[in-house]
Amino acid sequence: MNEIMADSLFTKIINRQIPADIVYEDDDVLAFNDISPQAPVHILIVPKKQVETINDFQDDDAELIGKIVLAAKRIAKEKGLSDNGYRLIFNTNADAGQTVFHVHCHLIGGRMLNWPPG
Ligand code: 5GP
Repeated sequence: MNEIMADSLFTKIINRQIPADIVYEDDDVLAFNDISPQAPVHILIVPKKQVETINDFQDDDAELIGKIVLAAKRIAKEKGLSDNGYRLIFNTNADAGQTVFHVHCHLIGGRMLNWPPG
């Protein structure tokens, strides 16, 4: 029997059950402003397919993973970040501080970013 997965917070945003400031959408990916921005630009790029963490991606998700990064690249260009720089982050599980268990790529930029991160 198939296990039925409850809708994640981000699936609810994808389904327009929860509002968000959407900046990009295609058949596979949605991107929206983070509700608690850590930089002048802080956008989350999420697959419409509900995958909990990077650990749950399978080999046949390779194209989807590529689409997330290509969407991030495109948004970074639209936001004028391409030349100065930006950071893409996938927090995964507790040590990285993942709080929403639907894979998301943080696109952060618009200021100098410290390295190493905290
Ligand atoms: P994580 O800590 O899992 O890597 O990142 C989750 C991100 O989702 C956080 O940066 C948090 O601010 C953001 N977030 C949590 N709830 C909402 C929400 O309802 N709307 C939006 N737009 N962002 C959210």
